[in-house]
Amino acid sequence: MLSNLSLSGLVKIVHGQLQGGAAAELNADMIHGVSTDTRKIKAGDLYVPLSGEHFNGHHFIAQAAEQGAVAALIDQDVDSDLADRLPLIRVTDCLIALGQIAGWNRSQFRGPVVAVTGSAGKTSVKQLMSSVLAQRYRTWMTQGNLNNHIGAPLTLLALQPEHEAAVIELGASGAGEIAYTAQWVKPQVGIITNAAEAHLEGFGSLQGIVQTKGELLDFIQPGGCAVLNADDVFYAEWAERAAAVKLLSFGFSAAADVRASALRCDLQGSHFVLHLDGEEYAVRLPLLGEHNVRNALAVSAAAYALGLSAAEIIQGLQQATTVSGRLHWLDGQAGQRILNDAYNANPASIKAAIDVLKHAAQSWLVLGDMAELGESELAAHADIGLYAKTQGIQHLLATGERSRKTVEAFGAGAHWFATKEELVRYLQQQTTDQDVILVKGSRSAGMDQVVQALQKNT
Ligand code: ATP
Ligand code: MG
Repeated sequence: MLSNLSLSGLVKIVHGQLQGGAAAELNADMIHGVSTDTRKIKAGDLYVPLSGEHFNGHHFIAQAAEQGAVAALIDQDVDSDLADRLPLIRVTDCLIALGQIAGWNRSQFRGPVVAVTGSAGKTSVKQLMSSVLAQRYRTWMTQGNLNNHIGAPLTLLALQPEHEAAVIELGASGAGEIAYTAQWVKPQVGIITNAAEAHLEGFGSLQGIVQTKGELLDFIQPGGCAVLNADDVFYAEWAERAAAVKLLSFGFSAAADVRASALRCDLQGSHFVLHLDGEEYAVRLPLLGEHNVRNALAVSAAAYALGLSAAEIIQGLQQATTVSGRLHWLDGQAGQRILNDAYNANPASIKAAIDVLKHAAQSWLVLGDMAELGESELAAHADIGLYAKTQGIQHLLATGERSRKTVEAFGAGAHWFATKEELVRYLQQQTTDQDVILVKGSRSAGMDQVVQALQKNT
């Protein structure tokens, strides 16, 4: 782990070159942690300056030194005085070096590592997976949604000697991004939740998304296991790519290794019979929606692959907690019950949410636009309106240009608003404590503002 890493060891890992006078004290210092942010850096941390469109972390090296950074990486020329203040290690690319150190820290870790990717449900699966692993292990997991080329290495770098298992969320907005992070994560178990038209613009096509999610399978450790969605149209393609490791499938189809039957989902949660290793278990999942049952099946398969008992798996599922913004209950000012699903949206996750909302006697579906759907975006918005209608949703309110199509397709009972303020005002006038309001839209639609405006102040 990092606490055993000396500066000279570090130099080797990143194929770097030491610069400056401060380098003389080299072996005395051990690295306590790695930080890319001088606002959060702690004494003993290695500072890794990253550069983006609007900032250059190299400008903050002096500040890092003041706060007790033990050394800094650089990949460009910096003020030569800095080298007298702390050892500087020159590398080709600080971002890659961050990954290399993360990969080293992961290689020191002996516990099971589970990686999760897919279009929807990664964070939900991550949370549920750690609830199950926590039955046996002190479990570390991705914090929040830090699932990209920076967040995934930082998650690995935060692994501590006291941790016994880890769950790492891997997200992507373009081809090659899962391969990039998975090469450092090297999981024992890799879960792909599904493939849908999320972030389509970065990938070009759904096939591009399927390929990219599949990259995870190339990095599962020998003897490890791929956990794949038997109900996904791309299952066979992924299964073929996972030929070098064990495979467990999950889903509702009778062919799935780990499956559910007798499913009942309502506004309180879900009940189902879990079929695992030839046995049947009644499970009560305190999470809403059929999609969370799918997530629970993925987690059960992954936990089973790691040798957890059925009792541990069921206990972990039943103790699951909701992630804020993902079908999370809140109280409205007029006693309405609000289902906050405003974190994000794509066609699959809106349909999953509608399947929950349809159980309400008085249902209000409140939508913002879905982003990043490419050419088919207007058809996808219309399709949601039709689906909501056929599932018996009573009222549909929407804002955002593309959502005009959703309102048109729904027909009677749907209203379109030019602004969120008008939409909120209408809802406040029209709804009472008899109503259930589900709020959802892509992150860029900012529908969390609608939730905030309706929510009872606590
Ligand atoms: P991101 O790409 O933003 O990290 P994510 O993959 O982590 O998203 P979650 O945050 O778990 O996904 O959930 C996002 C949305 O997808 C939520 O609105 C949730 O209701 C829905 N969702 C969760 N699991 C599934 C699933 N298995 N199938 C379809 N939709 C799902
Ligand atoms: Mg996520």
